[in-house]
Amino acid sequence: MPFLCNMADAKPTATKEQQKKFKQFLQRADKNKVLKRLPQLHEEAFEKIDCLQCAACCKNYSPRFKTPDVKRISKHLGLKESELIDTYLKVDEEGDFVVKSTPCPFLGADNFCTIYEVRPSDCARFPYTDEDVIIKRQALTLKNASFCPIVFYVLDNLSDNR
Ligand code: SF4
Ligand code: SF4
Repeated sequence: MPFLCNMADAKPTATKEQQKKFKQFLQRADKNKVLKRLPQLHEEAFEKIDCLQCAACCKNYSPRFKTPDVKRISKHLGLKESELIDTYLKVDEEGDFVVKSTPCPFLGADNFCTIYEVRPSDCARFPYTDEDVIIKRQALTLKNASFCPIVFYVLDNLSDNR
């Protein structure tokens, strides 16, 4: 990331009907075939979609801040780990540290991540369009397709050209 597209650059995200099509595709997909096509589709999607015109992920959702993330980010900010946690984080229902509120407090006004070099690994990996997560965690992939134009692009192409 980083990362709702402004209107001028708006790219589609999945409607209910498209979600149904993507779900059926993921359930029946040939994993090896999908993995082979992912690198090119991932690259194409990032060429066509400018995350800096979007930021839907950073504005609406939180990554998990795992222990190495907390250590790295607090060191970068010159804060004690407890200060970083007390100031910005809370524990969610799954026991993970997440931001207290959205948009993410580290998102700059220009949609740049102000801690980009040390951002949580979840942020660095998002939206998982170059990983087998896209097939393995289908519910997550479908959720991401509902707001992330990159996931939409990859799934739309995969499901149209099997
Ligand atoms: S939601 Fe997707 S397209 Fe938008 S900023 Fe995040 S990764 Fe980029
Ligand atoms: S840490 Fe940076 S990349 Fe991650 S959600 Fe916050 S602003 Fe976005």
